[in-house]
Amino acid sequence: MASGADNTTTATGRSVLITGGNRGIGLAIAKVFVANGDKVAITYRSGEIPEGMLGVKADVTSEEQIDAAFTRVEAEHGPVEVLVANAGITRDTLLLRMSESDFTDVIDTNLTGAFRVVKRASRGMIRLRRGRVILISSVTGLYGAPGQINYSASKSGLIGIARSLTRELGSRGITANVVAPGFIDTDMTAELPEDTRKSYLATIPAGRFASPEEVAGVVSWLAGEDAGYISGAVIPVDGGLGMGH
Ligand code: NDP
Repeated sequence: MASGADNTTTATGRSVLITGGNRGIGLAIAKVFVANGDKVAITYRSGEIPEGMLGVKADVTSEEQIDAAFTRVEAEHGPVEVLVANAGITRDTLLLRMSESDFTDVIDTNLTGAFRVVKRASRGMIRLRRGRVILISSVTGLYGAPGQINYSASKSGLIGIARSLTRELGSRGITANVVAPGFIDTDMTAELPEDTRKSYLATIPAGRFASPEEVAGVVSWLAGEDAGYISGAVIPVDGGLGMGH
């Protein structure tokens, strides 16, 4: 157990916000916090709000929508103590075919979107003098991948955010960490052609893709008492794929 850490969040009943919590990895993360007894809010753009959560409609590319979402979460659950920046997109294609908008759209959602939510969450965390920020990156952000210059640039950028945030706000009881999943079975990877899936599988030491729940468990741990002295870290959840990167 952690002892004496002034950033130790109460183990339960925390105000938690997950972007893109309506499906995939974000939904699995949200469910873990609900099961832990936290007050969970998710941002969503479409579809249903999962049971037991507060759904706030927001697109992470809009500062206004993010501000409104936080204002509602703060009113219903109190200031956000745990922020998980999970919303993300891909626009894969090889460099010579990649348009500038393929690049900037991915950066705007995955990287600037994370900046927007981190900035808005930090206000309340500074006042609380505690907070946990967890950014969902990717093995690709460390390892690179053909066809993903836009995506991997956005995911590497998250490491810069977490580490600078750690240096800027670490003394205020706020930690910021990155989780770097490998291949996880969600809608995002379901889009991959069968031969691409097979070739990826051959390179993963674990010999399989992971379930979203396997990422969610690590996020929950990073937000918990035992991880109070971990900040600026990149935690791979990739079955050994990115080893050494
Ligand atoms: P999905 O495609 O299943 O879900 C993406 C989520 O992001 C959805 O909730 C989606 O909302 C939301 N989202 C996308 N764009 C925006 C936006 N502009 N504003 C608000 N929400 C948005 O992806 P995964 O669950 O697989 O991925 C979740 C995160 O994990 C992403 O950051 C991804 O890059 C990362 N990741 C995934 C891996 C994998 O193998 N699956 C591997 C490594 C990292 P909506 O339903 O409204 O579209």
